[in-house]
Amino acid sequence: MIWDPYHECMDLEQRRELQAHRLRETVARLSANVPFYRQAFRDVDVQPQDIQSIDDLALLPFTVKDDLRDNYPYGLFASPLSEVVRVHASSGTTGKPTVVGYTAEDINLWAECMARSIGCSGGTPHDTLQVAYGYGLFTGGLGLHYGGERMGCTVIPMSSGNTERQIMMMRDLGSTILACTPSYALTVADVAADMGLQPEDFKLKSGIFGAEPWSESSRQAVEEKLGLSAHDIYGLSEIIGPGVANECSNKGGLHIFDDHFVPEIINPETGEVLPDGEYGELVITCITKTCLPLIRYRTRDISCLHRDICPCGRTHPRIGRLQGRTDDMLIIRGVNVFPSQIEHALLSIEEAEPHYQLIVRREGHLDVLEVQVEVSGEIFADTVRRLEEVEKRIAHAIRTTVGIGVEVKLVEPKTIARSEGKAKRVIDLRKEE
Ligand SMILES: [Zn+2]
Repeated sequence: MIWDPYHECMDLEQRRELQAHRLRETVARLSANVPFYRQAFRDVDVQPQDIQSIDDLALLPFTVKDDLRDNYPYGLFASPLSEVVRVHASSGTTGKPTVVGYTAEDINLWAECMARSIGCSGGTPHDTLQVAYGYGLFTGGLGLHYGGERMGCTVIPMSSGNTERQIMMMRDLGSTILACTPSYALTVADVAADMGLQPEDFKLKSGIFGAEPWSESSRQAVEEKLGLSAHDIYGLSEIIGPGVANECSNKGGLHIFDDHFVPEIINPETGEVLPDGEYGELVITCITKTCLPLIRYRTRDISCLHRDICPCGRTHPRIGRLQGRTDDMLIIRGVNVFPSQIEHALLSIEEAEPHYQLIVRREGHLDVLEVQVEVSGEIFADTVRRLEEVEKRIAHAIRTTVGIGVEVKLVEPKTIARSEGKAKRVIDLRKEE
């Protein structure tokens, strides 16, 4: 269902006008209320009146995660705390978290975007939405929750973890939509199978899976194991949380709701804007938020933009399936490697399970990438020759995809740690040397 046909199917010229109007207002507000932006605009010699059309975005400076850290906790808020009704925070890998704030208007905007996302994923007011994203400072749980209620779904606020109970509720309450990270969806599928449950035991029709990059092959695995249609959702707390973009039934990229969040793709090295279709760093400008409207925020996510009109009727552009993060990108012997590429290669091998871990170490001056892959118990019990043959095929598939040779090590079923949140795919031992 298209939740908001007026905005989601708006004529492109009309939307550019709307974007320009909203961008002008945002820049003026930031100049007036946020000293950081007043200075940043001054540094690039831009006055609010210089911003006329949406193409003038390129005149504006970038915002990076360190700007949020440097102004911790409230320095970038454009609204007084008396108007802030909620804060969330993203866990920082080092030091302080990133704190983000919402006014009542922002919470309303978020619920609207999430209702659009649920609609993109095939949801309607008749659905029962099981939210298995974590509730709390992380934006996943409450984002889906408010969106589900806005749409009129029956919402089950399970939060993450407690997998067997999760599965019992999913079956007993007849959940039709499951929302969680894709790696947790795979865990749920495996545990359900261990409990002797088949896809037919559930009423699931759709999954809303995000908060980490995943591959087309993971999609197939989770769709088969849970008997649902899996949809990718994208968002980040700095922008608003989940609901920035979502896949429709065509699954040809994620519609980004650009009447609120204007996307650009840049070369992460030079900052130059790249043409549509080329992969680079996704940059997003918030043009409707009140508390924390970030200008040209560098997400560090690698994606691309498609602007051809989607058969579903929505006119929003689409971002390509995320290829990882600029800071997750491994450089192995001078070659850029994303974990998602390895995953994609792995899932073309029938014997491999979609659970893997990458271990990078340095031998002498040479980087060595070891790929540990789980195989089924049946394969693992087979002959050494059979295992070597599977390893060889996996190594070949990875070399073909990534362009470098790797060491493949098959491991027993369920030896790689399962995650209830974001999967930890990479152990880079080079950093410890
Ligand atoms: Zn579409």
